[in-house]
Amino acid sequence: MTTDKPTIVLDAVVLGAGVAGLYQLYQLRREGLNVRAYEAGGDVGGTWYWNRYPGARFDSEAYIYQFFFDEKLYKDWSWTQRFPGQPEIERWLHYITDRLDLRKDISFNARVESAHYDEDRGRWTIKTGAGDVIDTQFFVSCGGMLSAPLHDQFEGMKDFKGQIVYTSSYPSEGVDVKDKKVGVIGVGATGIQVVQTMAPECGHMTVFARTPQYVVAMKNPTLGPKEQDAYKARYHELKESIPHTFSGFEYDWDPKITWATATPEERLQHMEATYQDGSLKMWLASFGEIFFVKEISDAVSDFVADKMRQRLKNDPHLVDVLVPTLDDYGFGTHRVPLENKYLEAYLLPNVEAISVRKNRNPIKRFVEKGIELSDGRVVELDVVILATGFDAGSGCLSRVDVRGKGGVSLREEWGKDIRTTMGLGKVGFPNLLTTAVPLAPSAALCNMTTCLSQQTEWITELVKTMRAQGQTKIEPTDEGEDKWVVHHDSLANATLVPKTDSWYMGSNVPGKPRRMLSYVGGVGTYRKKCDEEAEAGYPSFVRS
Ligand code: NAP
Repeated sequence: MTTDKPTIVLDAVVLGAGVAGLYQLYQLRREGLNVRAYEAGGDVGGTWYWNRYPGARFDSEAYIYQFFFDEKLYKDWSWTQRFPGQPEIERWLHYITDRLDLRKDISFNARVESAHYDEDRGRWTIKTGAGDVIDTQFFVSCGGMLSAPLHDQFEGMKDFKGQIVYTSSYPSEGVDVKDKKVGVIGVGATGIQVVQTMAPECGHMTVFARTPQYVVAMKNPTLGPKEQDAYKARYHELKESIPHTFSGFEYDWDPKITWATATPEERLQHMEATYQDGSLKMWLASFGEIFFVKEISDAVSDFVADKMRQRLKNDPHLVDVLVPTLDDYGFGTHRVPLENKYLEAYLLPNVEAISVRKNRNPIKRFVEKGIELSDGRVVELDVVILATGFDAGSGCLSRVDVRGKGGVSLREEWGKDIRTTMGLGKVGFPNLLTTAVPLAPSAALCNMTTCLSQQTEWITELVKTMRAQGQTKIEPTDEGEDKWVVHHDSLANATLVPKTDSWYMGSNVPGKPRRMLSYVGGVGTYRKKCDEEAEAGYPSFVRS
C-alpha cells in the first residue's frame, strides 16, 4: 500500500499485541528502547481477541496462564473459574494492558505486511496495512503459533446461500442459530468447544467429523474469594516451579510412578486419578512412556477411548465416528482437548454426526443449499461454522513478506524446510527475533504464557547485552542452527508424535514441509539450554 505517512524510526518493532507482544513491549520499553507494537486486530489479546466463538475457553488453569514477573499484578486480578471463558480472558488482557500502560505504544488495525532487511544499514523496513512505514533496528515477532487460520478449503463456498463463519474471526455480535440448521466442520479443540456450547441452542446441528479425537472431561469449578486466596498464596511456589516442568503447567511427570515399575492396579489407579483431575494432567503428567512405547500408548489410549465409549452409551454409529481406534493414532500424539459435555451433545435429538473421513463420506463441495457429501447426499444448512484449524508455528510470519539478507524470502525458506535457531532466530535474517515459531516448546507443547514469558525475557536480555556491549547486529550461525535442528529432530523422532498426522507435524497444510513443530525436550530443559546459550555468550549467533 502506498502511504503519505512519514517513516517512523524505532529501535524495535513488536509484531502482535497478544500475550507475548504485550510483555515484550513492556520489557523493551522498560529497557529504554524506542519500541512500538503493531497489531492486526482492533484491540489487544491476539488469540483471545480473534477466537471469540461461543465456548472458547482456557484449558490451562487460569492461575498458571499468568505473568509472574510482578506479584501485585498477579494478585490484583481474581479469576472466577479454573478454566474461564474467552470474555474473562480478554478482560484480563485488558487489565494487563492498562496496568502496564501499554496501549499508547500499540498501533491497532495495523497488520504487518512486509519486513525487508537492508544489509547496508543493518535495519529493517516494516510496512503495515494501515500505511505505516517503520525503520527499525530489531524486528521482534510475537504473532502467536496459531494465528494464521486456514481459509477457503472447500469447493463451492461462494455458491452457498447461507452464512459461513470462521471460529478464528467469529463476529463479536454473535451469530443467530436459534431454530437454524447449523453445520460444524472440524472436531479439534475449537470445534469441540463450539459443538458442546452451541448444540443445545441450534434448531439442528450437523457435525462433519473427520479424524476422531481423544478427549478428556474438564472439571471446571467456580473460584470464590476462598479459592482465589488459596491460589494466590501459591504465587511464589508456582513462579518457581512452573518454568521448570515438562510442559509449563503446575504438574509434571511423577518419577515415582512409571508404567514399567507400576503394577496393573497401580497403573489403573494412576490413570483414573489423573483423568479425574479433569485437566490436561492425564496427558502431561500420567505416564511419560506414552510418548515412546507403542504398547503403553495403546493401553492408555484404550483407557481414554473406553471412557468415551461409555459416555456415548456405546452407540455404534457415534463410537465409530467419534472415538479414535488404536489404528488411528495414540492418545496424546497430538493436542488433547479438554471438553465439557461434548460427547453428551451427540446424544441430543437435534444433533447428527457424520464421518467425513476419506474412506467414509468426505465433503465433496458446498452447494447453494448446504454441503454435498461424496455419496451425493446434500445436507441442507443455514449456517456453517468452520473450525478447520491453522497454519501453525510458521504460518504467521510466512504470511508476511519477510526478506532477509540478499532479499531471501522467509516464506520460501520455510516452504522448503522449517528450520530455526532455538525458535529464537533464523539464519540469514539478522535482528529478527522470534517467539512461538517452530523448534521451541512455544510452537505447541507448552502452557503458552510460561513459554512466551521465557522467550521474551531471553530476547530482552539479549538486546540489553548487545546495547551494553555496543553491538547493533545479531544473526544465527549456520553451525548453531544445524546443531539445534539436529538436536530437536533427534528428540522428536524418538517419540511417537511424528507418526500422527496433525498440525503438530504441519500435515494439516497441503505442501507444508513435515517436521515436528514443537521442541519436545521439555519446557524446563529448553529454558536451561537458552540460559546456557546466553551464559556462554550466544555461541549460536554472531554479534557485531
Ligand atoms: P485443529 O486441531 O487443527 O482441528 C481442525 C479440525 O478441522 C480437525 O478436526 C480437522 O480434521 C478438521 N478439518 C480440517 N480440514 C478439513 C476438511 N477439509 N474436511 C473436514 N474436516 C477438516 O484446529 P483447532 O480445533 O482450531 O485447534 C488448534 C489448536 O488450537 C488446538 O490444538 C489447541 O492447541 C488450540 N486451541 C486451544 C483451545 C483451548 O482450550 N485453550 C481451544 C481451541 C483451540 P483432521 O483432524 O482430519 O485434519
